[in-house]
Amino acid sequence: MKDFLQKVNSYIKEALSAAKYLYNGFSVTFDHLRRRPVTVQYPYEKLIPSERYRGRIHYEFDKCIACEVCVRVCPINLPVVDWVMNKETKKKELRNYSIDFGVCIFCGNCVEFCPTNCLSMTEEYELAAFDRHNLNFDNIALGRLPTNVTTDPSVKPLKELAYLPKGVMDPHEISPSDPRVGKLPEEVYDWMKPVSNETKAKAVKTNN
Ligand code: SF4
Ligand code: SF4
Repeated sequence: MKDFLQKVNSYIKEALSAAKYLYNGFSVTFDHLRRRPVTVQYPYEKLIPSERYRGRIHYEFDKCIACEVCVRVCPINLPVVDWVMNKETKKKELRNYSIDFGVCIFCGNCVEFCPTNCLSMTEEYELAAFDRHNLNFDNIALGRLPTNVTTDPSVKPLKELAYLPKGVMDPHEISPSDPRVGKLPEEVYDWMKPVSNETKAKAVKTNN
């Protein structure tokens, strides 16, 4: 009898422990169900990168003194500084400079230690290419000014997802008669701008 009671006791303890783990797991799941979707309608919309975002490196050829500090501080000695010594002036002459973004880990060491500040990290992150050799940027490609999400007229810059109606967590919950349905995000933004109730009523009517 004593053995039986001990077995029952241990069974109950295990069952309670399992229930506790299930509760912990489901509490996380249900907490996420209450949140708004975080999908961005790329490429129509793009999130604004943070101020210190470490994207594609920008390089200014005219400022570079070919000191190769950037090569020495790079964990993989990546930047290629191509220079020759001018025997008359006894000074280095820079020919070319390149960084292979297929290998770069965007740690920012080269930018941090460059004595002339000719390197800087931009907010450009769209570096996809069909051929990985195209990711090897020479000084001309590195000197290109970066694309900016906030000034690109074809992109709606987003700080957060703001085009769902207040209180709606799921895009599928929007009624088919809502003027937002079937519209591109920028059209929804236009609609959301402060306009008279009359104009909004017209939009609803057209959609119906
Ligand atoms: S550290 Fe700066 S100045 Fe020196 S070679 Fe590199 S990019 Fe040029
Ligand atoms: S960001 Fe880092 S890995 Fe890339 S070139 Fe500079 S030091 Fe090297």
